Amino acid sequence: MKLKFNLIALTLVLIFFVSCSNSNKNDNKGTKNDETEQLKHNDSKKDSKNVHWSHHKGEDGPENWKNLCDDFADCGGNSQSPINIDNNSIFKVNDLVTAVFNYGKSKVNIINNGHTVQFNIDGENNVNLNGKNYKLLQFHYHALSEHTIDGKHFPIEVHFVHKHSDTDYAVIGVMYVEGKENKLLKKYLDKIPTSKGDFKSNDTIDILEILPDNKSYYYYNGSLTTPPCTEIVNWYILKNPLEASKEQIEKFSEILHNNYRPVQPINGRKVKQYLEK
Ligand SMILES: [Zn+2]
Repeated sequence: MKLKFNLIALTLVLIFFVSCSNSNKNDNKGTKNDETEQLKHNDSKKDSKNVHWSHHKGEDGPENWKNLCDDFADCGGNSQSPINIDNNSIFKVNDLVTAVFNYGKSKVNIINNGHTVQFNIDGENNVNLNGKNYKLLQFHYHALSEHTIDGKHFPIEVHFVHKHSDTDYAVIGVMYVEGKENKLLKKYLDKIPTSKGDFKSNDTIDILEILPDNKSYYYYNGSLTTPPCTEIVNWYILKNPLEASKEQIEKFSEILHNNYRPVQPINGRKVKQYLEK
């Protein structure tokens, strides 16, 4: 009986090593405080935290994420993000409603985790999206934009990550265009660590002020855009962009260093839109 138990234990250990066989070339540093850190559904997800992945072409690049570890298998799924949003193929329905924001002021802790620059948020900041409440966890940046609109990239895209439950997230994406100086970037761009590190701010920011006034949005079902690429995200891409100056965009893009995943096949998914008056 004891021998049988030992054999089962040994088998389980072997399965573990096979499932994350590539994790031996870890650099362990990259994924802490990552946008996926809040998504530890079970113990096996913790193991995949140590698998090294990159936004850049190569063995650990986006094309190979699905092969890096069993837990990243979703990266090869059918409902992946980002996508190209084609204005000529919007599914015309009137079943969406206006987003109701209950955002307040929050202290921020800015982290450069090697994959993105992330503003961690404290306090209760919620948004009601089509009847469901989602709590804001953090927002972070990509350059270039991850989503494209009519085939066009924007220089920067910010993602506001919200959670309703372990299997129900909502991410609000907002594009940046070149224009007026951006207030938030003016305040923090010089303080953002240019390599891995963090900056704690004692002052507060009014989160609603960061968003465009008009909150018309595109909506579709997709995934996290970084491993494990879990397909649990309701995507809301705002139609109106934010502005930042040429210098701000250049400086921030240098820090973000092309941290965008290429667009993924839409596979018949419907993109809807809600137009705010
Ligand atoms: Zn993101």
